[in-house]
Amino acid sequence: MNIHEYQGKEILKSFGVAIQEGIVAETPEKAIDAAQKLKDETGTGWWVVKAQIHAGGRGKGGGVKLAKTLTEVKERASDIIGMNLITHQTGPEGKLVSKVLIAQDVYYPGESETSEYYMSVLLNRETGKNIIMYSTEGGMDIEDVAEKTPHLIHKEEVDPGVGLQGFQARKIAFNLGLSGKAFKEMTKFVSALYKAYVSTDSSMFEINPVLKTSDNKILAVDAKVNLDDNALFRHSNYAAMRDLSEEDPAETEAAKSNLNFVKLDGNVGCMVNGAGLAMATMDIIKLSGGEPANFLDVGGGANAATVEAGLKIILNDQNVKAILINIFGGIVRCDRVANGVVEAYKNIGEIKIPIIVRLQGTNAEGGKKIIDESGLKVFSAITLKEASDLVQQIVN
Ligand code: GDP
Ligand code: MN
Repeated sequence: MNIHEYQGKEILKSFGVAIQEGIVAETPEKAIDAAQKLKDETGTGWWVVKAQIHAGGRGKGGGVKLAKTLTEVKERASDIIGMNLITHQTGPEGKLVSKVLIAQDVYYPGESETSEYYMSVLLNRETGKNIIMYSTEGGMDIEDVAEKTPHLIHKEEVDPGVGLQGFQARKIAFNLGLSGKAFKEMTKFVSALYKAYVSTDSSMFEINPVLKTSDNKILAVDAKVNLDDNALFRHSNYAAMRDLSEEDPAETEAAKSNLNFVKLDGNVGCMVNGAGLAMATMDIIKLSGGEPANFLDVGGGANAATVEAGLKIILNDQNVKAILINIFGGIVRCDRVANGVVEAYKNIGEIKIPIIVRLQGTNAEGGKKIIDESGLKVFSAITLKEASDLVQQIVN
């Protein structure tokens, strides 16, 4: 689950990571109040108005603006709230901005230059260790740095059983070219960041830029946090940070019915019980010349209600030319699933595209009989070969 920058910073702060302070606002009027409050609390002279959407690259897309007066805060907030922000991560359709973060300006002049670094913590699945990636080349597109100058991205692996060691935090601060107060601040920053990542069960924390201010403080200016959905039950306070308006509506609908659904771009919808069988079914669709329109695992207890919810979600997708239902009757009996399909079909009303139902396992023959005798535009199959031949006939 992704969260907004302001929420990510809230989490970071709660673990003692120093951040660029800010207050979120939904209207230009509230933006002025936020700016005034921030000035009282932090003494900031200027502010940055930052669009809150689940995508990076906001600065380049016009979603991050400096404001030098309260009037400018209001103007910039009016410009950004309600805008359709297009960045390299939103896709060409962009994203509607409904909130801004009013943040303190942390790029003020002082005794030394400001510097922007890159830092992220994530899991290296190959080694089963956490990894801290960091670079002196922060602020801009890290993807470019990785591609053109990969030697400028450093990696520090951390054994999750042992945790981040002091020497590792010092090595990172050293490799970033820091000394004195900034060096010390960076070791504290890295330790707190690693603790935040582990304690929240996150899949990724990415801070770009990490800023060294002109008075040698180390701050998180941005925060991209990805929390592991499977661990959210342990963190109800983070689960409440979910912003459904940022998520795919079909996936939200599916989650309500306890369906594991991922929208894809193909033309053959599929409904399957079990994630492994779903993957295999998607392969079969591809081998038959189609492209899967989705991943959908209805879980162990497929019944009429789940089949109906799944069918409705798939049918909403205009690209879908056919649907393949592939159910293995282990816990669930095939005749029950067949009845569920027929019932769902009748409840939904007219379905214009062909549906192929492949039932295998307990009572498979009975299930096939129910489908064949239903008089609906549903094709039955028992073997995978039969099912894939049917898909092939329809999509080619
Ligand atoms: P992103 O573009 O979505 O990654 O958003 P960021 O939060 O990383 O901000 C983009 C850029 O805005 C940063 O790289 C900075 O150059 C600039 N920026 C952020 N905060 C401040 C600030 O307090 N003062 C000034 N002058 N610039 C800032
Ligand atoms: Mn950024």
